[in-house]
Amino acid sequence: ERRDTMNNLTTLLGRTPQKVREIGVLGGGISGLTTAYFLRKMLGESAKITLFEASDRLGGWIDTEIVPFPSSFSTPCHSFVLEKGPRSLRIQGKDMMELVDELNLGEEILPADKEALENRLIYHNNELIALPVGLGGLLTNKFFRKNVIPNALFEVFRPQKFREGEDKTGKVQDESVGDFVERRFGKTVADVLIGALCTGIYSSNARLLSVRSCFPSLFNLEKQSGSVVGGLVSGLLGRKKLTKEEEEERARMKKEKEGRVKSGVYSFNRGMNSIVFAVAASLSRSPTVTFLKESPVKGVEVVDKEGRVKVVFDNEDKEKTMEFDHVFSALPLNVLGKFLAPSHEELANELKSVKYTNTAVINMVFEDKEKILQKYKGFGYLCAPSSSEKIMGVAFDSCTFPAQDNLQQEPTPFNAPLSRVTVMMGGDPSLPNYYNLQPPSSPSAPSPASYNQLLAIARSHLCKHLSLEEESLLSRVKTCYNSIPIYHVGYYQTLERIGALLRGKKEEGKGVPISIVGMGVNGVGVNDCVTTAKKTVEAFVEEVNGEREKHS
Ligand SMILES: Cc1cc2nc3c(=O)[nH]c(=O)nc-3n(C[C@H](O)[C@H](O)[C@H](O)COP(=O)(O)OP(=O)(O)OC[C@H]3O[C@@H](n4cnc5c(N)ncnc54)[C@H](O)[C@@H]3O)c2cc1C
Repeated sequence: ERRDTMNNLTTLLGRTPQKVREIGVLGGGISGLTTAYFLRKMLGESAKITLFEASDRLGGWIDTEIVPFPSSFSTPCHSFVLEKGPRSLRIQGKDMMELVDELNLGEEILPADKEALENRLIYHNNELIALPVGLGGLLTNKFFRKNVIPNALFEVFRPQKFREGEDKTGKVQDESVGDFVERRFGKTVADVLIGALCTGIYSSNARLLSVRSCFPSLFNLEKQSGSVVGGLVSGLLGRKKLTKEEEEERARMKKEKEGRVKSGVYSFNRGMNSIVFAVAASLSRSPTVTFLKESPVKGVEVVDKEGRVKVVFDNEDKEKTMEFDHVFSALPLNVLGKFLAPSHEELANELKSVKYTNTAVINMVFEDKEKILQKYKGFGYLCAPSSSEKIMGVAFDSCTFPAQDNLQQEPTPFNAPLSRVTVMMGGDPSLPNYYNLQPPSSPSAPSPASYNQLLAIARSHLCKHLSLEEESLLSRVKTCYNSIPIYHVGYYQTLERIGALLRGKKEEGKGVPISIVGMGVNGVGVNDCVTTAKKTVEAFVEEVNGEREKHS
């Protein structure tokens, strides 16, 4: 599960055209798809939209497989869900939930099991430690009593590093997540709890990630209240006056928690692909939207003074080009940087400075419900990076979404006696629990991490951690190269510089007619991507309409 990681939204809007006739969208993941969707919704049929996707399928990292039951399975069942990428969403993503309702997907929402969600574990010092639930749990939990509570009590007395108004000094107002948490809560909390959380969300090292960009609420609590705990307590005591939007958001979340998503986390009956199919189906009903699948983009150039953008791409074994008034890039930032290097060196260097991690997802299905479901009844566990295990964590899919163990068209889904688990590997080379997933040096070179090797490592860890010794009935291994951006310390300044270079100086007619959406902007989760797409398109349409009024 990825969290909504930022509250202050960034919009990387390029120079907008006076007339919008043709728009290109690069990348057919959820960011590209929802960008096209919001453009269509806000501009109507007045502009032609062309979406380029390198592969033969839409969805990007969202990749659900509906698997028919193997004939060897002892109980006759229908099919089950395997998620080879993201598997759950949090109700905090308001724009996503609105989209779900707009697309009439509300009936398909599948809430996560509440009990499983409350039972989260961390693998540390050769054992699985349960994370506490509620205040009572906090006081009785051995690990928390020893390492967290004493540090939390003293946290209010620790010196403040970041203060309001200091951004103006020009010094980098940022620190790594690990250093921030160690300074405020001690080394064990930083290395074990936060270290594990950072591998879970970002597949990266807490000592490399920016606290300001990854956990802005922690950063802001110190900045505004002098202490994280102090700020939280005064919030709980109702000292902070909520804005109208905050009140409304609180009411919306309460309604969801009392209504359709009691656990606060959800997927869809037939998995995450449901949202991809629904957005794509809605777009394909529009006569002015074209999908170009199997059309990898190879180059992006700004062609003339009017600032049209030329996209060079491969299609049906031929190199082709198309021109647009504006392009929205939903590609990884470093990929766009490579394309812009010949014409926009400074911008390209900023984009290429954003590094991405590699991740592997290993799905395994066991014909046995007892061991995992009955013993742990949990969401899964994350490995503390210091534990030196060669995996980042394990999701207990059958516990979180038992209905996805067996899908039936009619009647409603029911459970099957099997256990689906997913092991995540990869991470950052600087971590002890890193597993080398570097992509092959050339397309013909052998991959450093083979299917069988990855599967064997996943199996040996399940055996060690969960005593799950039996062979899996079925497995899938997916390697995700260049998958999650690393929000490095000072990332907010990188984004500021990218934003300024895209806008250029209006009076000089400079700037680039390309806007950027995706995981590199406002958080790495699916919800973040949808919000970024929506806000960027809103800003674009507002500006285009403003320009139109000026010229009419
Ligand atoms: C293993 C894993 C687990 C995750 N789990 C969760 C989770 O549980 N919850 C959550 O909210 N988020 C999760 N995330 C994050 C989530 O997957 C992303 O937020 C989201 O899918 C990103 O969508 P995107 O469209 O921005 O990028 P992508 O999905 O990367 O889409 C980019 C698209 O661009 C295409 N492309 C690339 N190069 C070119 C080119 N040259 N020309 C044309 N097309 C190109 C790609 O093929 C791809 O389709 C997870 C990510 C990973 C990797």
